[in-house]
Amino acid sequence: MKKMIENIFSGDIHSAASLITMIENSREDSIDYIKEIFPHTGNAYVIGITGSPGAGKSTLVSEVISSYRKQGKTVGVIAVDSSSPFTGGAVLGDRIRMQKHEADDKGVFVRSMATRGNLGGLSRATRDAVFVMDAMGRDIIIIETVGVGQVELDVAKMAYTTAVVLTPGMGDDIQAIKAGIMEIGDIFLINKADLDGAGRVEKDVFYMLHIRGARHDNWQPEIFKTVALTGEGIPEFVQGIEKHRKFLLETGLIDNKKYTKGQLINLIKERLEIMVLHDIDGSVDECVQKIVHKEIDPYTASDIIINKIKS
Ligand code: GDP
Repeated sequence: MKKMIENIFSGDIHSAASLITMIENSREDSIDYIKEIFPHTGNAYVIGITGSPGAGKSTLVSEVISSYRKQGKTVGVIAVDSSSPFTGGAVLGDRIRMQKHEADDKGVFVRSMATRGNLGGLSRATRDAVFVMDAMGRDIIIIETVGVGQVELDVAKMAYTTAVVLTPGMGDDIQAIKAGIMEIGDIFLINKADLDGAGRVEKDVFYMLHIRGARHDNWQPEIFKTVALTGEGIPEFVQGIEKHRKFLLETGLIDNKKYTKGQLINLIKERLEIMVLHDIDGSVDECVQKIVHKEIDPYTASDIIINKIKS
């Protein structure tokens, strides 16, 4: 364990990847590693990039990596796929596209994470993977997510700056997902700005931000048009991230983002759930049978189980 942790601190990708695999597989001993590395985290800047499949996220991320590498910064990327346990193919696609960086550049470490059927677990695993990349000294960590489900909302809370990627021709979709995206976007990207309709989406986003009014943190989300395929708009996007980072630093809000109460509560819930489902699985089944046969009511049953956990 000591050797592996030393390797991670010295930036070794192989050791970091092994630990992330342990985390992804929910191995109990990964928790001991996290406890060891935690004091060495908190230095990386974490960026979330989310959007529908095909919006151009991977292409964008690749450009953003190039931009940070030019500044001499090291980058870690976590591509999270919460959509289903069976979409390994899509994640693999992301990996292949980004591997052009990985192959010859040790300053870029790309890792994908998929659900093992437990979405709460995926958020926790992503958080822990961020700790690992942070402890190995990555300057920038990008978490790429698909859509605006619970995992994406969780990830948005982990990221200091979250960018939502939209594309022309998705006007109706914007209406459908607006509650989610309005909540999480610090920056809105209209990618594929080379296609017709980019101006229209930009107007829609501008209008929705306008009617929403001031955010509780008073940050005014910015909108950028990008063509990820050519790199157009990427410098402006990266400057936008920098501007938001400065805002968080100057207002002290960055500390609120480093580890939220919500994340601790999620961790407690997840660990309690595992206890209930595994340790006292037999009693749960027994109680369910009794409830079905009206021998006890659900509240009494939950009292019995909670008392077992407490004892
Ligand atoms: P992801 O699923 O969100 O990661 O999207 P990808 O990065 O895989 O991109 C999906 C498709 O859109 C690919 O064929 C890209 O080449 C293409 N694409 C990405 N960015 C742009 C862009 O700015 N303009 C155009 N026309 N196509 C783009």
